[in-house]
Amino acid sequence: MRTLSAEINKKEGEEVEMLGWVQARRDHGKLVFIDIRDRSGIAQVVFGPDVKNGAGLPAQAGDLRLEYLIKMNGLVKKRPAKMFNDKIPTGAYEVQAKTLEILSRAEAMPISVDGDGYDINEEVRMKYRYLDLRRERMRNNLVVRHRVVKYFRDFLSNRGFLEVETPLLTKSTPEGARDYIVPSRMEKGKFYALPQSPQQYKQLLMVAGIEKYFQVARAVRDEDTRGDRQPEHTQLDIEMSFTTPDEVMSVVEEMTVTMMKELFPQKKMKTPWPRVPYNEAMEKYGTDKPDLRKDGSTHSIDSGQAGSPQAKDPDEIAFAWIVDFPNFELDKQTKEIQPVHHMFVQPKEGSVELIDTEPLKMVSTQYDLVCNGYELASGSIRITDPKLQMKIFKLLGMNEEKAKKDFGHLLEAFSYGVPPHGGIAPGIDRLMMILQNEPNIREVIAFPKTGDGRDPMMDAPSEVDEKQLKELGIKVVKD
Ligand code: ASP
Repeated sequence: MRTLSAEINKKEGEEVEMLGWVQARRDHGKLVFIDIRDRSGIAQVVFGPDVKNGAGLPAQAGDLRLEYLIKMNGLVKKRPAKMFNDKIPTGAYEVQAKTLEILSRAEAMPISVDGDGYDINEEVRMKYRYLDLRRERMRNNLVVRHRVVKYFRDFLSNRGFLEVETPLLTKSTPEGARDYIVPSRMEKGKFYALPQSPQQYKQLLMVAGIEKYFQVARAVRDEDTRGDRQPEHTQLDIEMSFTTPDEVMSVVEEMTVTMMKELFPQKKMKTPWPRVPYNEAMEKYGTDKPDLRKDGSTHSIDSGQAGSPQAKDPDEIAFAWIVDFPNFELDKQTKEIQPVHHMFVQPKEGSVELIDTEPLKMVSTQYDLVCNGYELASGSIRITDPKLQMKIFKLLGMNEEKAKKDFGHLLEAFSYGVPPHGGIAPGIDRLMMILQNEPNIREVIAFPKTGDGRDPMMDAPSEVDEKQLKELGIKVVKD
């Protein structure tokens, strides 16, 4: 039976079989030391002539190169006290090798995988992501991410939320970004859009009577990539019927605070999370995503810069809710009116009346979650009155015909008994980036894209066969 590296601490005096990669080799003449690495970590293995039946092993071990995959048997021993290595959890033990088999050889590595990797060119790291992910830091990021997502899934499931999958091939959801579109083969000239979020689907699930929905969902947006943005990101998408902003915020706050207590007990944060009105945030901090850490500067981190949570005390986390957002604002360039969040946000009581006269003065039910200067989530109560929704479509420059063409399904759904509802969608990548003290979200995503949206490992995007294009009725025009 296989023993994992991390398990040798409990197996002193036992003979074990181990499978793993050679992470390091140290030659001391008669003795050869290697570090064997598997998914649990690393352990030291000694090849020496003094082991019964082990004659010749050092010579064999001499053939080992970095990242060879080996299978070996050996005896677990306690190291002499002065040889303890307190840098690794198995540092008090080692395995005296008895047999060795090379399962797979490795060419010279294009990147080293034993350090933290920050100093390696990122394009090269991405091209060899399957090697980059071998490093402990990256593996740990994936492990911790899994634990956090599992915690959220369990938390919500225990409270009666149902995880429902929604389509990837859909129709454009206007969340303010450009869509990625997919051509239809059956209906030439028509396109699906990849979802910018499951916004309309989750609202339709409320009409369907699901009442409490969540989904670990991918959201796909064709916008300029930055440190905290990727063409696709993962959201913990949540929607609830018969709810209030207070309830939505409480669910997310309790879920996150209890998760942090369990998985990140060393982190310091203030609870309950402060709630800051939008106007106050703008006046006091000049931004709607203030960094409220004690020793933090009071302004938000420019996510385009290398500015990372690492720069400050890595265990200080400051969450806050920003509330009372305006419903609408003017686009800085075009000066056209646009929603601050999206067009399904219910205005706050007393604000609806302003729509005909002073729409820019309308206050909405939107609530944002910010953390250490990053926006982690946006949410709101939704419009369920088809007349008000139509008015807002018109305010945003759509005529009735266009609104019906694009959103007729939603307006019609609201005519068959729609519960009041609201929700939120915390971004998992940004949360993990902050919790793991990483400088950007690429470090917590298994297979991210480069700044200009490429995947250097798969070589995507790439050209497709002429035949595929023909089937789709597409002609490519290159400038
Ligand atoms: N769909 C929204 C977003 O992706 C979140 C929400 O309103 O629930 O930002």
